[in-house]
Amino acid sequence: MKNVFFFGNGKADGDAGMAELLGGKGANLAEMTNLGVRVPPGFTISAKLCTKYIESGKIADEVRREVEAAMEKLEIAAGRGFGNPADPLLVSVRSGSEVSMPGMMDTILDLGLNDSTVQGLAAQSCNDWFAWDSYRRFLQMYAEVVFGIGDSSAEVNPFEAALDCLKRERGTESDADLKAGDLKGLVEEFQAIVERETGAPFPEDPWLQLWGAIEAVFGSWNTRRAIDYRQLNRIPEDLGTAVSVVSMVYGNMGNDSGTGVVFTRHPSTGENELFGEFLMNAQGEDVVAGIRNPEPIARMADLLPETYRELQRTRELLEQHYRDMQDIEFTVERGTLYLLQTRTAKRSAAAAIRVAVEMVETEGLIDRQTALARIAPAQLDQLLHPTIDPTANAVVLTTGLPASPGAAVGQVVFDATLAAEMAKAGEDVVLVRRETSPDDFHGMVAAKAILTSRGGMTSHAAVVARGMGKCCVAGARELNVDEQGRCFSVNGTTIREGEWISVDGSTGRVLAGRVPLVQPESSPEFEKLMSWADDARLLRVRANADTPADAERARAFGAEGIGLCRTEHMFFQDGRISVMREMILATGLDGRKAALGKLLPMQRQDFVGIFRAMDGLPVTIRLLDPPLHEFLPRETAELEEIAAQLGVPLSTIENRVDVLTETNPMLGHRGCRLGITYPEITEMQSRAIFEAACEASASGVEVHPEVMVPLVAHREELRLQSDLVRQTAEQVFSETKCRVDYLVGTMIELPRAALTADEIAEVSDFFSFGTNDLTQTTCGVSRDDSGRFLSKYLELGILDDDPFQTMDERGVGKLVQIAVELGKGKKPGLKIGICGEHGGDPRSVAFCHRLGLNYVSCSPFRVPIARLAAAQAAQAS
Ligand code: PEP
Ligand code: MG
Repeated sequence: MKNVFFFGNGKADGDAGMAELLGGKGANLAEMTNLGVRVPPGFTISAKLCTKYIESGKIADEVRREVEAAMEKLEIAAGRGFGNPADPLLVSVRSGSEVSMPGMMDTILDLGLNDSTVQGLAAQSCNDWFAWDSYRRFLQMYAEVVFGIGDSSAEVNPFEAALDCLKRERGTESDADLKAGDLKGLVEEFQAIVERETGAPFPEDPWLQLWGAIEAVFGSWNTRRAIDYRQLNRIPEDLGTAVSVVSMVYGNMGNDSGTGVVFTRHPSTGENELFGEFLMNAQGEDVVAGIRNPEPIARMADLLPETYRELQRTRELLEQHYRDMQDIEFTVERGTLYLLQTRTAKRSAAAAIRVAVEMVETEGLIDRQTALARIAPAQLDQLLHPTIDPTANAVVLTTGLPASPGAAVGQVVFDATLAAEMAKAGEDVVLVRRETSPDDFHGMVAAKAILTSRGGMTSHAAVVARGMGKCCVAGARELNVDEQGRCFSVNGTTIREGEWISVDGSTGRVLAGRVPLVQPESSPEFEKLMSWADDARLLRVRANADTPADAERARAFGAEGIGLCRTEHMFFQDGRISVMREMILATGLDGRKAALGKLLPMQRQDFVGIFRAMDGLPVTIRLLDPPLHEFLPRETAELEEIAAQLGVPLSTIENRVDVLTETNPMLGHRGCRLGITYPEITEMQSRAIFEAACEASASGVEVHPEVMVPLVAHREELRLQSDLVRQTAEQVFSETKCRVDYLVGTMIELPRAALTADEIAEVSDFFSFGTNDLTQTTCGVSRDDSGRFLSKYLELGILDDDPFQTMDERGVGKLVQIAVELGKGKKPGLKIGICGEHGGDPRSVAFCHRLGLNYVSCSPFRVPIARLAAAQAAQAS
């Protein structure tokens, strides 16, 4: 098997498809060479040898022979000799794996320099200063990378110290003011440093230098930061890094030389023009080190017009060839352009969409399918919410779970009522709580962002915020929230009420102070791409929306109906919670009915609004689900208020709260168990739904109500509730002299329901998977408490993903699959959807597509993401 791959003189042993062996960099150098782009000649040593080297600690003899043979070819291609004092060949040595990894060693330049070849370099360049400057830079770079002297772990870098000292002596701050003789002295000093630190003189023999560099590159695969980076980004350990050895070209040979980094299109906007920077008379390392400030690439058109035109031609050639936007590094040596690297360019979501659409429509470089496949669905978040200005200098206080995307800035407030008051007065606030409860709803509505120290991705705060499209960071465990003391502390910083913070719900970051934001913008390209997605997908996409306003927004984002309207959310609004409490706290049927009578018109009114917003589309309305105690008052003042309202002693209320309090409410008196024990609740809600449907229908709206029963485990539960819903519907139809078509179905959100889905299907018109509860009950992990330990599980690799975010396909997914098979086995035409948070997660959407579900339902802001993910899933199958 070949281990070393040569490229030069317009021909390469490898190509872009060989990134696994050559690394991304090596593969593209080969590809560009074959393409006729001017690349300095060189060779790449296979990444496969990296793991072998790490295991054995040595480079095998046959590999050495291959490298020697490649060097001979390189000498011929470059017309110079490696180690030849009269006309030396100097090389750069770079690492590069299949996946770009900033955690690894980067580059050694000018390898091959020694006390004699430096003279040859001086002769080649007719510049003594340049030769000695290159030599001292090489010594330092090599010593840092190969010997670890003065690398980032050292307190003082002895090379920098020596250089600073010399500059002080010469009374200058600039390297350029030093004389060739000064630099020669510095070289001797650097050599002495190496000898002192390593106990041996700096290797003069270029071959010793080369083997040392190759081993250092291979070894850098296993540095701490490289290992950490791989773990974080899930890069396989056995990939290894390749080593590219490339003949040197110089951007610092005078004013007809330079170096630059450009994108073939604008990486933020996608505009089809060269974007990037250029630095005259400099090496790439000067730019990286920030020694001098580069100029916009357009300046090159004035400074080196001919070379600039060639760069433009190269840009076009590369885009035509790769059919994608590129990120290029180049050097100009005495007017001659050399490409040192090309790779697929990173870009913002807006740029990604514009580039993809224009490449289809304007340039015809790719087809629609490719365009759709190129956009990461999750990236669309950037286009739908404000984001943190990436150029801002922000201090990260801590990072929690990215529970609901977008970014916001506001004054910290610790209670919901104050949040609501301040917002009313026009202030921007961030509501910070240990965790939120329905009691906090008014504050959550008013706040710009919500931050909690507890709770997971499906905690109350996360679910409610996502529904509203509000930025939320949940489960920020490092946050010590002192709600009484009105402050929080985190990593040594204390933030008091009224102080400003910024919250980034897309990444989970919490930032100090007021960080500038970038506002989202829709674009014709976005609309176009989404229409292509709609043509490609088979899954329908609905939204989880609880209010008319949410429903309207969802429709604007392309929702094709509502997959989940959580009716309890309607009760959290101002004025309604007290009626709800009245209902819960009533001791007898009459009291409950009286309160329900007050709730009926409120619900009906909301349903009418939702039906209107969803004219012609299905609307799934779920009967009351959460444990009643979520609505209970907790503070004494609230208890007193309720007692006064109901005209009963405080003790009665306290007792009732006591009776209703559950040890494990998630598995307690909730879901259809409420409707079964208190049928009057189901009756009232059904009445509200059908009265609203008839009212809307009478005014010309096309309604398709689907009533959904939550937390069913047994067929009989659903049958009882369904009968009640249907009876109520008939009553309403006969009262209103109006009739609408409707469905009654169930959520499948308990393992028992999934396992007996055939029985349940007998009495159900549809299934909707409630994968939040199904995950909770299958894994035995509380949705609200998972934040405390899940991050550790992810860190240790026990889990690959947060199961509340991405469906656990092998566990929870298996139950979903069983339920689909059982359900359809009994009723082939059964309509099946999903309304858990997974409905907006791209990988879970793909899973739903594979299972043949009819639709996914997710929060309004994730509707475009689900549309694109569904299209990609359809294309992939
Ligand atoms: C679910 O359990 O997946 C669901 C959608 O319902 P909720 O989150 O309201 O329990
Ligand atoms: Mg549920």
